[in-house]
Amino acid sequence: TEILNTVKEEHELTDVSFKTWLLPLTVHTVENDTVTILVPSEQFITYISKKFTLPLKVAISEITGHDYEIAFILPEDVKQDKTAAPAASSNLGNTAEKANLNPKYTFDTFVVGSNNKFAHAASLAVAESPGEIYNPLFLYGGVGLGKTHLMHSIAHFILERDPRSKVLYVTSEVFTNELIEAIRNGNNTTMTKFREKYRNIDVLLIDDVQFIIGKESTQEEFFHTFNALHGAKKQIIISSDKPPKDMEILEDRLRSRFEWGLIADISSPDYETRMAILRKKEELDGYDIDKEVIEYIARNIKSNIRELEGALNKIMAYANLEKREVNIELAEKVLKDIISPNEKRVITPELIIDIVAEHFDISASDLSGTKRNSKVVLPRQIAMYLCREMTNVTLKNIGKCLGNRDHTTIMNGCSKIESELNKNNETISSTLDILKKKINPGK
Ligand code: ADP
Ligand code: MG
Repeated sequence: TEILNTVKEEHELTDVSFKTWLLPLTVHTVENDTVTILVPSEQFITYISKKFTLPLKVAISEITGHDYEIAFILPEDVKQDKTAAPAASSNLGNTAEKANLNPKYTFDTFVVGSNNKFAHAASLAVAESPGEIYNPLFLYGGVGLGKTHLMHSIAHFILERDPRSKVLYVTSEVFTNELIEAIRNGNNTTMTKFREKYRNIDVLLIDDVQFIIGKESTQEEFFHTFNALHGAKKQIIISSDKPPKDMEILEDRLRSRFEWGLIADISSPDYETRMAILRKKEELDGYDIDKEVIEYIARNIKSNIRELEGALNKIMAYANLEKREVNIELAEKVLKDIISPNEKRVITPELIIDIVAEHFDISASDLSGTKRNSKVVLPRQIAMYLCREMTNVTLKNIGKCLGNRDHTTIMNGCSKIESELNKNNETISSTLDILKKKINPGK
């Protein structure tokens, strides 16, 4: 422990790196002039040996007064040892660029559990040594399990270490729309600008890459972006809802590149992890909630961390509004709609309205309300169109859900969207595709 703490202090390791990499290490043997260190799992032995051989060596010699060689060994093969190369130094970028990151999504607020342990360690490794070892990093997992949180954590970590590093986080949707825009303007300067933006950086994070598959021109451009960055040893981090091998309409050349680096999945959290996440949220938001209530939420909401947090928020908001005590009765009452076991998600106008509103970053009440500014008009028409396309609800009833509009208003809204589609408006058609996938993830 003394050795480990010395390494931590001298190298100013963050708590999270310390816990992930060093704390699990134990001394296996000290023989002749070699200290053999036991690494509990194989996955990151190369990384640990690259990063920490030298620091450990120095710390051991300081503490014992002896120079030892360091070897690493795995539990399953005590005879096999891997000596290591010295730690590599990191490269520096030159302008600060802080790209739309959520300040709350950091490694400090990320709860590590059995469902995300590997993805977390992989992300940390990449954050500590961008472009050096695992490139690309491909994170995959279902909705609301923490992919975006981990990606932002990596970006924050890198920027904190080196504010000059050029880090760019975008959703694949933004990438696509900017590309469409650059192509539509139809001159070389806009394309050159687009390429400069995406190639002249140190770290590119592309979130939800599943939304660009099936779009030929986007895949093509992304392929070239990928090659340019990878060839220059710039770090690429990609997230998706599926592993590359299951992404059906992905071009093979992109698939094979996605598989070059490290692929890590995040699965659904187990009960302990769900509890830990709720506790963390309670701590961060400064709540003090009955254990029984937390347990009730953790027991009943299983597959999605966003819903888990949403449930807690909903209870707190309700208690606040009604000035009621937070107890199990209140929790049961508030969550009864969310907790309907194993029920398949039915597509309703309400669901579509919620998803469209969230997508455009406006509130559901503004979406169905009476405002007529540009921020709400198009989303409202899109919601009308999707309600008609994706449900069997009559125009009259769609109108009721959308702020009591009559059926001709809904019909007009739908034809606006149709006429854009007939004009080959690619932005609209790509937005519609994404929304359809969000509304009905199974398809
Ligand atoms: P995804 O991108 O996989 O759909 P997000 O990263 O948006 O999921 O996560 C959904 C919500 O759950 C976010 O508010 C995020 O902070 C939270 N969350 C997910 N995983 C964790 C975790 N391990 N610890 C703490 N919060 C988490
Ligand atoms: Mg996400």
